[in-house]
Amino acid sequence: MSEIHTGVLVVGGGMAGVTAAVESAELGREVFLVEKSVSLGGRVAGMKQYFPKLCPPYCGLEINYRRIKENPRITVLTSSNVEAIEGTAGDYTVTVRVKPRYVKENLCDPKAPFAELDAQVPDGFNYGLCQKKAVGLPHELAFPFLPVVDEAALENEEIRAQIGKLDAVDLEQEEKEMKLKVGSIIWAAGWVPYDASRIEYLNYDAYPDVITNVEMERLAAVNGPTGGKLLRPSDGREAKRVAFIQCAGSRDENHLPYCSAVCCMASLKQSTYVREAYDDAEVWVFYIDIRANRYESFYRKIQDDDKVHFIKGKPGSVELDADSGDLVVVSEDMTQDEMVRVPVDLVVLATGMVPATKENKVPYEGLIYDEFGFMVANPEKAAIYPAGCVKRPVDVSATVQDATGASIRALGARREVK
Ligand code: SF4
Repeated sequence: MSEIHTGVLVVGGGMAGVTAAVESAELGREVFLVEKSVSLGGRVAGMKQYFPKLCPPYCGLEINYRRIKENPRITVLTSSNVEAIEGTAGDYTVTVRVKPRYVKENLCDPKAPFAELDAQVPDGFNYGLCQKKAVGLPHELAFPFLPVVDEAALENEEIRAQIGKLDAVDLEQEEKEMKLKVGSIIWAAGWVPYDASRIEYLNYDAYPDVITNVEMERLAAVNGPTGGKLLRPSDGREAKRVAFIQCAGSRDENHLPYCSAVCCMASLKQSTYVREAYDDAEVWVFYIDIRANRYESFYRKIQDDDKVHFIKGKPGSVELDADSGDLVVVSEDMTQDEMVRVPVDLVVLATGMVPATKENKVPYEGLIYDEFGFMVANPEKAAIYPAGCVKRPVDVSATVQDATGASIRALGARREVK
């Protein structure tokens, strides 16, 4: 007879996973929270503000981090990947591979040993918009608040040799394999932005001042690469004229045929970043139609701003005016029945959401995915429950609600599986 386990494995340390972990533990379950990157926080940690209250990310994350720290039922495993899942509801054995941080434990001050280090690598948290130390804290909202050797540093012989001499670094640390016994699993691995370089006519790869909406969050954040000043990546010029291109890749048979649900509100929110940054700032939003969902009043407020121009049309290209350094958005304006050319300092592509499960499926046979890689809940087959953006594109507040629902389902897992 197989043993019955009531513990819950939560995969993904973003808002969905953190919520599911905390809720499950507070319902009395032992929880293993497994995150593949070096810190919890997911995409929310990288935002300047998020809906519904336009809070900075520490509002939601710090409360949850405190709930994790105070709850002995939660074990957090970062830099960890789920490699295999065997068994059935109530009796899963999960193989997890944990990468080392290559930094010695119990440092009194997590920053001090690396203060003098010169070696730099591209800063992944800031989408490569700046460099960071090859060893150090992942970012100021990191959980755990521990330094780590960046993976890019390990691949560079010169940097590797330099950091290998530091007393606080131990490059001999090895990966560990763990076997976890749980009764149910919540898969909250989140999403990745659609690869903007595939939308060739928008020239994301060609011009550094064509950026994506996730990069815009970092550019505007006070703890971002420019200290919150809206400056162009190419030359540091103030980005006072900004164009947002909606549905960049979404609702397009050649890319993502579905609506990514959150990018209209992301651009409307980011247009306030621009307008608040400079008194004379101006914004253009190129759209097919605006899907404001539950935030119509916010949309109306932006429409009332005469420095925010809405142009109904899908841009055909983004060009560079070599003399002025301006980017020029070329688009039809359907309401005026004409073509327009709008010179701007910065172009922000409202790129869509791709579920993490498109490329990385759950290592368990028999689960269902739709044609785009989103997980389809199938509680009668296995006690493995999708939560948040692996199910469909949703915003942060809907993600939190969905994760709470998943933790309740996980609680009654064995009753659901036939
Ligand atoms: Fe396009 Fe808006 Fe849907 Fe995003 S939310 S895909 S920008 S319509």
